[in-house]
Amino acid sequence: MDFELSDEQKDIIRAAREFAEGEFPAYADEADATETFPRPLWKKGCDLGFVGVFWDEAYGGAGLGFFEHALIMEEFWRVDPGCGQAVLGALFGSQMIHLFGTEEQKRRYLTPLARGEAIMGSAITEPDAGSDVASGTTRAELKDGRYVINGNKMFISNGSIADYMTVLCVTHPEGENRHRRQSVLIVETDREGFEANKLKGKLGIRASDTAEVTFSNVAVPADHIVGEPGRGFYHFMEFFNHTRIHICAQGVGVAQGALERSIRHVKTRRQFGRPLGSFQAIQFKLAEMATRIEAARSLYWRAGWNIDHGIVDHRLVAMAKWFAGEVGVYVTNEALQIHGGYGYLREYGIERLYRDAKIVEIYEGTREIEKLIVARNILGRL
Ligand SMILES: Cc1cc2nc3c(=O)[nH]c(=O)nc-3n(C[C@H](O)[C@H](O)[C@H](O)COP(=O)(O)OP(=O)(O)OC[C@H]3O[C@@H](n4cnc5c(N)ncnc54)[C@H](O)[C@@H]3O)c2cc1C
Repeated sequence: MDFELSDEQKDIIRAAREFAEGEFPAYADEADATETFPRPLWKKGCDLGFVGVFWDEAYGGAGLGFFEHALIMEEFWRVDPGCGQAVLGALFGSQMIHLFGTEEQKRRYLTPLARGEAIMGSAITEPDAGSDVASGTTRAELKDGRYVINGNKMFISNGSIADYMTVLCVTHPEGENRHRRQSVLIVETDREGFEANKLKGKLGIRASDTAEVTFSNVAVPADHIVGEPGRGFYHFMEFFNHTRIHICAQGVGVAQGALERSIRHVKTRRQFGRPLGSFQAIQFKLAEMATRIEAARSLYWRAGWNIDHGIVDHRLVAMAKWFAGEVGVYVTNEALQIHGGYGYLREYGIERLYRDAKIVEIYEGTREIEKLIVARNILGRL
């Protein structure tokens, strides 16, 4: 088994690190404090080719894999999760088009994302349908060759800045079971009846836009359907098997950033006449943080490698997802502890990583839902 990254992958990591370290600091504090999307930063990220590396070159991508996108994600989150999410999260939803879209949909919707001419979102969650995705009630009725959409979606990343989004809608209410009633539609946000309310006061990733969106008789042509009609639930489960790899990279990235800051701190901070790093209790903390990061990284790299080699192992993806989230939260918490009172202050940067890490345990499948997937897989039907 070869665990070595290719030279191209190492170059991608180097370039992503250089961009994040060089550019994020100028935007991170302001974007976090004011909860604003750093548009110039996102544009720079697109211009440098970081957005959409897994699409074909014909659509502005680099023809690489989901794994390479994850490597960039890890480096971005290592420096600042909010900025990282602002740049790379701008394509959230494109994976659905990449996986199930027609050539025409790919050309029309992926290319502008890579060029920095459009931002995308993906609307699945509803006020009363979070973890239970299949219970969503947003309805799309086919009338005179157009789908007319009515309903509400909650917590939609880029909801108030996106140019278009993939939306999970009930199109087949008569479907034989609750998993066969939905379809995925692409909706442009300038269509009449679309409304977005930005959600303010988030704990973390505040540079990333989140909104509640409403569809009131929003009409889209029938060719806006992605994949197979009535298979929307399954398409999204497949979508998550891919995108969760990127969420794993977020958990590992934020943890790695917190560890590195902690190492720097314990080498210079002195108490009882010695550097903090010379105390065994601190050394044990660092050793545990580093080990957990390595374990989470190994798990998600394997899951990611599988995905790019056509092996979709949702059990492994779910394991990697909950574990990476827990590691992100654990390590940032320990990092804050190691920094003592300074960790509690905004200017030392740990406080933000601590706040940002939590989302990894919530979105794209909570920690509990991921564990349910694993358990169901190893137990079988009881
Ligand atoms: C910042 C942010 C960005 C987001 N971006 C998007 C986006 O772009 N698009 C989108 O569609 N959604 C998005 N979400 C929504 C996110 O995916 C949901 O919040 C998440 O899936 C959980 O759903 P919920 O909030 O309704 O919680 P609930 O489903 O109500 O869960 C509440 C708690 O109960 C637990 N729970 C639920 N069911 C079970 C069960 N059967 N057994 C055990 N425990 C259970 C959960 O694990 C959780 O701890 C975003 C959320 C946030 C906060």
